[in-house]
Amino acid sequence: ETILSTRKLSKTYVADGVQAHVLGSVDLELYRGDFTSIMGPSGSGKSTLLYCLSGMDAPTSGEVIFEGEDIARLGQGRLSELRAQRFGFVFQAANLVSNLTLYENVAVPGYLKRGRSASETKRATDELVARMGLAQVASHLPSQASGGQKQRCAVARAVVNEPAIVFADEPTGALNRANSLEVLDLLGELNRNGISILMVTHDVRSAVRGNRVLYFEDGGIRGELELAPWDPAF
Ligand code: ADP
Ligand code: ADP
Repeated sequence: ETILSTRKLSKTYVADGVQAHVLGSVDLELYRGDFTSIMGPSGSGKSTLLYCLSGMDAPTSGEVIFEGEDIARLGQGRLSELRAQRFGFVFQAANLVSNLTLYENVAVPGYLKRGRSASETKRATDELVARMGLAQVASHLPSQASGGQKQRCAVARAVVNEPAIVFADEPTGALNRANSLEVLDLLGELNRNGISILMVTHDVRSAVRGNRVLYFEDGGIRGELELAPWDPAF
C-alpha cells in the first residue's frame, strides 16, 4: 500500500536572477511499513526532496500525495495538523529546547496534540524514555547530555505522537560510530513496530539499514540498490 507518492515533483530556486533546478520531475512511491533510504552525494537535492515530501517546503510544481491528499496544495492549517499528528522529524542536529529536560522535550509535542489526554502523553513519554535508554538522564538538560543521548531524545520526541511516517535527514551525520549504530537500531525498531521511515543520507552504511534503498543523484531518483537488508559487507 502506498503511503506517500510524488508526480513530476520539481523544485527550482532563483538566486540573483539565476535559476537552479534542484529537483527535476521526481516520480516516487513509498510504501507503508517500509524503511526507505534515499542515498546520494551531498548537494544532490536529498534534503530538498525530504522537505517537499514532508510539507516543510513547497515544490515549484508537481504533486505530493500523502494518504490521498495533495500536501503541496493544502492550506497552512491542515498542513500544520498533518505535520504535528501524522509526521515525525529527525535531523542531523537534535535541536532540543535548551531549557527543558530531556523528558520534557519528548513530552511537549504530546501535550500539544489535540484530543490527547495528559495521562496518555505521560504513559507514551515514560515508555519512550525507557526504550531509548534515557531513563537515567531524563531529568538532565540537553547541555548535560551527550551527543548520542540528545539524538536518542530527538528520535523519541519524533514518535511520541505515534506518527504514520518519520522523516530523517542525515540522522547520524553528527554522531560517532557507536552512537550512529544505536540511532539506526532504534529507527529499525520503530519501523518493526509499524512506523514507516524515510531516511536521506550520503552514508551507505546507514542507507543499507533500509529494506529499500533508492539512489538519488543530480535532482532525481536514478535507481534502486539491489542490496540485502543490512548487508554485512557494510
Ligand atoms: P543534499 O541534501 O543532497 O546535500 P540539498 O537538498 O541540501 O542537497 O541541496 C541541493 C542544492 O540546492 C544545493 O546546491 C543547495 O545549494 C541548493 N539549495 C538548497 N536550499 C536552497 C535555498 N533555500 N535557496 C537556494 N538554493 C538552495
Ligand atoms: P568516529 O571516529 O567519530 O567515531 P567513525 O569513523 O566511526 O567516526 O564513523 C564516521 C561516520 O560514519 C560516523 O559519523 C557515522 O555516521 C558513520 N558510521 C560509522 N560506522 C557506521 C555504521 N556501521 N553504520 C552506519 N554509519 C556508520
